[in-house]
Amino acid sequence: MKVQNLPPIEISNLGDLKEDRKAIIFTDKMVWEKIAPYACFKQKDIVYVERPTETYLSNLANSLGEYRVVYGIGGGVANDVAKFIGFYKKVETISIPTIFSTDAFLTSEVGVRVKDEIKYFSAKHPDIVYVDLDIISKAPKRLNLCGCGDIFSIYTGLFDWKYANIKGKIAEDEKLSSHVYSLAQAILRSLEIQKDEIRTCSKDGLKTILDLLCMEVQLCYLYGNSRPEEGSEHYFTYLIENIMKRHFLHGEMVALGTLIMSYFQGQDYKYIKNLMDYIGLNYLGTGATRDEIIKTIQELPSYVKEKKLRYSYAHDLTFDHEKINFILKEIGIL
Ligand SMILES: [Zn+2]
Repeated sequence: MKVQNLPPIEISNLGDLKEDRKAIIFTDKMVWEKIAPYACFKQKDIVYVERPTETYLSNLANSLGEYRVVYGIGGGVANDVAKFIGFYKKVETISIPTIFSTDAFLTSEVGVRVKDEIKYFSAKHPDIVYVDLDIISKAPKRLNLCGCGDIFSIYTGLFDWKYANIKGKIAEDEKLSSHVYSLAQAILRSLEIQKDEIRTCSKDGLKTILDLLCMEVQLCYLYGNSRPEEGSEHYFTYLIENIMKRHFLHGEMVALGTLIMSYFQGQDYKYIKNLMDYIGLNYLGTGATRDEIIKTIQELPSYVKEKKLRYSYAHDLTFDHEKINFILKEIGIL
């Protein structure tokens, strides 16, 4: 077994970065306008990214000239496109997150729309990640708090792991490990302990979000897959993404999925809801309608089976009008 590692992370001022090599920068117009005064690139081309589809990425890869280094500056989309192009062109890839909305800047995964579906595949890690906490602290709180979605998912993810074990549906590479289980619990617990800093998105709070995302990703690498943090709530997110066909923030949808699925799992969803409300994670900001959520819950069991996703509570979910009405009312979706 080979244990992957996180990319090196340098916490620094973007103003100190001097890039002499010919660089291609994938970013977003609004982000670049804010970053441009700080960044020092000698020879650069800038591409404002679109949400990646298969066609967009292959056209982009085929139309680009030669570059010595690829930069992804911004959130999940900019970093996904940079990782893909860096991988395809076999060029050094540098990530500069300007928000902590997902763990995309730490992983090799890239989300691509193929026909009507989002597919995730492994491209490459950034070779280095530069984090400027001053810049990140200037982003809207809502975007940075989104990063907590992939920490909250531990709550439902761990339940599913244990559930699959009890049901005897555990595959060879997902045996229940009590120490990995308790380490994942500790990551979620740390979020709770640091909730006052996190809710203000102070520099300490942002550093905590970064640390928790790093620990969550590294724990999954040590274990060998994302079983400890990915379960029914992510499956809910993948399916509703196909149903809605509209953009939303991954962390907010994972948070919504965590709330709904923890209720169906019979867990203490109020504990999670209170914590999300306290820090200000906007699980109502996804734009998902009541009908879309209901359709997702109805289709979830057949979706997870068809996609052969790791066994979870979603596999055995039985649709119950009363239950779904109750939890949607509790969450505030009327
Ligand atoms: Zn996620």
